[in-house]
Amino acid sequence: MKKVKLGVIGLGRLGMVHTRHLATLISDAEVKDVCALDQSQLNYAKDHFNVTTWVDYKEMIDSADIDAVVIVAPTGFHPEMVIYALNANKHVFCEKPVGLHLDDTVLLMEKTVTAHPHLTFQLGFMRRYDASYRHAKKIIEDGQIGDIVYIRAYGIDPSSGMESFTKFASDNDSGGIFVDMCIHDIDLIRWYTGMEPIQTWSMGNQIAAPELKVIGEYETGVATLKFANGMVATLIGGRHAAHGNQVEMEIMGSDGWLRIAQEPNKDFVTLFTHSGVVRPSMQSFSERFELAFIDELKDFITRVQYKQPGSITMADGIQALRIAEACKQSAESGSLIAI
Ligand code: NAD
Repeated sequence: MKKVKLGVIGLGRLGMVHTRHLATLISDAEVKDVCALDQSQLNYAKDHFNVTTWVDYKEMIDSADIDAVVIVAPTGFHPEMVIYALNANKHVFCEKPVGLHLDDTVLLMEKTVTAHPHLTFQLGFMRRYDASYRHAKKIIEDGQIGDIVYIRAYGIDPSSGMESFTKFASDNDSGGIFVDMCIHDIDLIRWYTGMEPIQTWSMGNQIAAPELKVIGEYETGVATLKFANGMVATLIGGRHAAHGNQVEMEIMGSDGWLRIAQEPNKDFVTLFTHSGVVRPSMQSFSERFELAFIDELKDFITRVQYKQPGSITMADGIQALRIAEACKQSAESGSLIAI
């Protein structure tokens, strides 16, 4: 099978991680070109991965000898980049979310994906590739916990990452806590239950990081979602976890419960000293989801090779964005919002 030749757009917090995985760990992928606005990132990629560098993504797509584009640029650019790449006949892997708002550009992006069924398009909701979330899905499907009654999900970045997050959200609109962070759990709840929420009541604050008020971000966001059969979910997104990367989910069923990653343990070491009993914790999303990030890209490459559609679709992206935007609207207006 021929290797898939790739161009990566975006070399920031996640783009460099994806580039390293593709260039060094995924044997059927060949990263030939990378694009970013930051010259030091481009120099690093050139020195470490032997790639051609570009500042203008359209020039890269038009000129480079590539089969597929991996888009890891800020969210607001996703629609125009996806549209441009597909129209240039390239397969596309695009990071979450599909865009900042469910506007005309995102709808044109959806139409463009539909108009190119021969090209693989896949979205980066990587938690669906994490071994623990997959194990939980099997437990639910096997009926081991009965009917789902309630879901509680935490997606809370470590406070040690605040500086890098503030830079990310100051350079470009992140979409806010619901669109940028809670969207992962929104996607998982849709994936686990096969249901869509019908109402949300959401709130947010900046108690732990008042400086985020300046850039219009909530530090903590809480969304309650109600589903047609009465099931309820509570999502808590945030950036303030003192101990590490707290990405946790609890699913309560009529016949049992399950919890995924109750504690963000770094490894199996527990330290017993005069200070007490201590377990070191993971400090970043890239550490927690390292294998999931690798597996989602491996799967994308295989799907391109075998001419298959992506596992996570544009429709998944649109629906998750619709729900996240309703949460944002509810927090901003203080009202219960129908979805
Ligand atoms: P970042 O700000 O750290 O990096 C952005 C990169 O894009 C930089 O290299 C920048 O130079 C480049 N860029 C910006 N505008 C560009 C343009 N017009 N043309 C070409 N390059 C451009 O961002 P990040 O944290 O890496 O996030 C990027 C995307 O990845 C976002 O959509 C974010 O939501 C997503 N993300 C997903 C996860 C996940 O868990 N799946 C985690 C982090 C980020």
